[in-house]
Amino acid sequence: MVRVSREDFSVAAATNVSAYRRITVPVLRVEAGPGPAVALIAGVHGDEWEGQAAILDLWHELPSILTRGTVYLLPAVNAEASLAGTRLSPADGGNLNRAFLGAPARGYTEGVAAALEARLLPRVQAMVDVHSGGASLRYLPSSVITRHGDDAYDARLPALARAFGLPHCMFFRGGEPGSMPAAASRHGVLRLSAEIGGGRETSQSLADRCRAGLLGCLGELGLLPDRTPAPAPEVRLYDLDAAAATLRARESGVFVPGVELGQSVAALQHIGRLIEPARPDSPMRALLSPQSGTVVCLRPIARSDDGDCLLQVAPALPLDSLVSKY
Ligand SMILES: [Zn+2]
Repeated sequence: MVRVSREDFSVAAATNVSAYRRITVPVLRVEAGPGPAVALIAGVHGDEWEGQAAILDLWHELPSILTRGTVYLLPAVNAEASLAGTRLSPADGGNLNRAFLGAPARGYTEGVAAALEARLLPRVQAMVDVHSGGASLRYLPSSVITRHGDDAYDARLPALARAFGLPHCMFFRGGEPGSMPAAASRHGVLRLSAEIGGGRETSQSLADRCRAGLLGCLGELGLLPDRTPAPAPEVRLYDLDAAAATLRARESGVFVPGVELGQSVAALQHIGRLIEPARPDSPMRALLSPQSGTVVCLRPIARSDDGDCLLQVAPALPLDSLVSKY
């Protein structure tokens, strides 16, 4: 028998016009007997919509299909930022993915992180934490594996990335002590992430791909009935940790990309330009790919400034080469 319970929590988020304001973070616990406990999380950054839409769908659907274990659904874990449609928390400007710093929490964002560390992470063995490009980036839909610090290689990660069902997987090496990967690592929680879409918009098709990926992960972790496994897609791994994977603007201008997501480019290939239409005498600035590979991330906002990420590109590697990154 499946038991469903709400485990919402609220966090203080005072403003100048609301001294005792609190923000409620919705949590649904779906329990179907013995088995692993898994958290499905979206909205760490409030403007990343695909995971939020997919987990909201599972909020209604999962109680009738879960057969083993326990799932915690958090469709908008930074509820304040989701309601405002912003990456960062409006109350304090905090980035929830940098706020897992340990008690005492110094404001709303760290309060959400502290609540997750106290209430959720000790109770789960695995999590899928869905991100996307948000307002300022657009990603080739991909699963994501982040190695935090000197995390040991976990042989379950490639299977989990394959179970997510997308043909692309990105690899990051996270060093920030306050990140969600850092918190998951502290609690020994197996963590897969994803980068799906972005650009201040979303679509049913992307939300459906994300939902299918989350169900695939629950199946891989043993919480859904055994099904004839679909042929596993060939998954290509992109190491986005290398400095050469990211092209940043070095001055302000209007970014006119000449490539598309998923396109293969050569090193130093012309991939676009920065122009300044209001200063027609200033020279056009050509942008060159920092290395050869596949374009996996593009900035969808034309007006750009010094330091903005414009593009990420990396060679496609076999997923099994992941072990060499550890
Ligand atoms: Zn994010």
